[in-house]
Amino acid sequence: MFHVKQWDVIVIGGGHAGCEAAAVSARLGARTALVTLRRDGIGVMSCNPAIGGLGKGHLVREIDAMDGIMGRAADRAGIQFRLLNRRKGPAVQGPRAQADRAIYRAAIQAQLAELENLTVVEAEVADLSVDAARINGVVLADGTVLGSATVILTAGTFLNGVMHIGDKSRPGGRVGDAASVRLAARLAEMSLPTGRLKTGTPPRLDGRTIDWSRLEIQPGDDDPTLFSFLHDRPFARQIACGITHTNEGTHDIVRANLSRSAMYGGHIEGVGPRYCPSIEDKVLRFADKPSHQIFLEPEGLTDDTVYPNGISTSLPAEVQEAYVRSIAGLERTTILQPGYAIEYDYFDPRGLCGTLETRNIAGLYFAGQINGTTGYEEAAAQGLVAGVNAARNALGAEPVTFSRSEGYIGVMIDDLVTRGVTEPYRMFTSRAEFRLSLRADNADQRLTPLGIDIGCVSPGRAALFETKMAAMTKGRIELESVSFTSAQMHEMGIATRQDGARRSAFALLSSPGVTIEAFGTAVPTFPPEIAAQLERDALYSQYLDRQDKDIAALRRDEKRAIPVTVDYLTMPGLSRELGLKLSRLRPANMAEAAAIEGMTPAALVLLLARIRKTPDLRRAQ
Ligand code: FAD
Repeated sequence: MFHVKQWDVIVIGGGHAGCEAAAVSARLGARTALVTLRRDGIGVMSCNPAIGGLGKGHLVREIDAMDGIMGRAADRAGIQFRLLNRRKGPAVQGPRAQADRAIYRAAIQAQLAELENLTVVEAEVADLSVDAARINGVVLADGTVLGSATVILTAGTFLNGVMHIGDKSRPGGRVGDAASVRLAARLAEMSLPTGRLKTGTPPRLDGRTIDWSRLEIQPGDDDPTLFSFLHDRPFARQIACGITHTNEGTHDIVRANLSRSAMYGGHIEGVGPRYCPSIEDKVLRFADKPSHQIFLEPEGLTDDTVYPNGISTSLPAEVQEAYVRSIAGLERTTILQPGYAIEYDYFDPRGLCGTLETRNIAGLYFAGQINGTTGYEEAAAQGLVAGVNAARNALGAEPVTFSRSEGYIGVMIDDLVTRGVTEPYRMFTSRAEFRLSLRADNADQRLTPLGIDIGCVSPGRAALFETKMAAMTKGRIELESVSFTSAQMHEMGIATRQDGARRSAFALLSSPGVTIEAFGTAVPTFPPEIAAQLERDALYSQYLDRQDKDIAALRRDEKRAIPVTVDYLTMPGLSRELGLKLSRLRPANMAEAAAIEGMTPAALVLLLARIRKTPDLRRAQ
């Protein structure tokens, strides 16, 4: 069958990247086809049933600020909300929700179904149609051709995917799904630079066989922090998780069977995520730790499956059963689905522009795990960027790039396209140099204006945002126009420098512990969410100068030599991982250090301060 149907944008893959890409493309008015292997697989969470976390929660908020779909689906599906790093400042706090898998998938599918310009096509894409280094469509497995000058590929772990359990391996995109071998073979002919990565998942447990009475129970937050700026309370019933720990017995079982692990038995060549270690990694790399924490997370309100977060593995099924049953509370637990590792192809993201369009083939965009990232949120954020740009390309509008100073989306895209990856890339707040201004709480202030400007934000959200911003601007002016003498501040219990200067209410809010309430009737009453946001903005406004200075210093000092005498392994504040990497690579100057994959702006600031402050190091230059 060979018939050509013409689309503005074709998205291949209905995972997290593909859904976000297709949704924004349709919102922008492009006639969009989402071609995916299984219609009912749209919005499936392949691994852990959770959205958000440190750095990742920021990405979800930014996607939501552009009216994306991930945050709203996560809010609908959230069965336990926790704001991570709650005791630290808002800049590094990460909203996280454990999700009911079935509700999440249904919520994504429902949002896509509402989009007028979007058509879902259930099919396998077997080939890309390329002419003179320009894409002009895709060929389905049955020979049907769908034409389009803009195509977004988001095939996740499916390209040449191989699943491993112990020494058994078979082709597969994830459990229950076939790999995309034909498309991978075709892409290989296009001489795009590729590599191999791997990731793993834990065994899924039958919750009815867990002895919950022996476990520590962790409830969610009393005042849940949601992802979407449109929502203020959860939709689903809230539940608690269980916590248990591995022990020496567990570690002995794992150690005794290491040679049977796919990852350690030499069956896998791909590189895995170091910060998401398998139980095999933990036992080997942290040999001195007698136990590791495991969160037992129910996968849904009507599902008995439990996801044991922290023990992903590629050991044989019988070894998984033995080590699971060595753990307190799991002595009689049945495994519903053994854990497995998956190895897959990825493309070197340095072959992409900041719009995620490939440099070699005009009109072809890549987003999601195929660019070497890991995680739903990273995938969705790339989907948003590729979707915006593919649609604008199709509709004849200028490209839109996201800068590092605007958001974590910009940080991730810049990291990927300039530095590439050597291991699965995941977002951390330490990757952002502007992290005091890039907070999860102000993602709408940073990105919704752009979304409104390019036309991907609904009129309803735009109106709510504008009302909020009008209240914020008015509130800030009011707080800046009221000022207090030292005596008044003393009376209000606010400790400041005794320099006789009057200080505005807004300036005083940057002092630790001061809230709008402290000013009593001297300032107007604000709606609670406006008051809370004014307080957060005020708290950080005093640090932004310092942040700008640090960044300017890093740029100025790019050529500064780094003496060979620097001992990275004993440098306070530097992570061991980066310490080891720097010790091995020994960058000659700050620019070389900055270009190292995985290097963070925070580590560069530390390094620069160290070189500047230590006289011995200065002399050694
Ligand atoms: P996916 O969600 O994989 O979606 C790919 C989509 O493409 C699917 O809908 C598929 O049907 C479709 N597709 C593929 N080929 C074709 C084709 N030829 N034609 C049509 N459609 C096609 N992330 C973490 O952060 N931590 C973890 O611990 C972790 N562990 C994981 C363990 C496993 C076993 C797996 C599989 C993934 C794991 N991940 C983990 C990664 C996480 O699932 C992905 O990062 C995320 O799902 C990537 O989203 P994506 O949209 O890029 O791809």
